[in-house]
Amino acid sequence: MKKNDAQTEEIRKKLEQSRKEIEEELEQFKASLDFGDETDHMEEESDESEEMGTFLSIKKLQDARLEAIDRALEKIKNGTYGFCERCGKPIEKEIVNIDPESALCKNCKHNRAQ
Ligand SMILES: [Zn+2]
Repeated sequence: MKKNDAQTEEIRKKLEQSRKEIEEELEQFKASLDFGDETDHMEEESDESEEMGTFLSIKKLQDARLEAIDRALEKIKNGTYGFCERCGKPIEKEIVNIDPESALCKNCKHNRAQ
């Protein structure tokens, strides 16, 4: 197994930290919605399903982030972290700093966004 350098270890910690934050955020949001209280608040039903819709769209985004984080963590484990999934070039440090779970380099990210 490839031994990670200090910088990769930093990134791994950052990724695990954001993973935890996302999970906590989702838990808190879920708790604030107070699901399963259907009989007491019949008149709020439409509000609740609206909130449920918001929750689901946020959850979808967060799930995608969690997936990207997990993939990045997997790559750190395999020693393949830091290379663009599309063109294979090393991902720029500035990208890694602001978006450590990114699987694409600056160029490919930019092309995909268009
Ligand atoms: Zn690339």
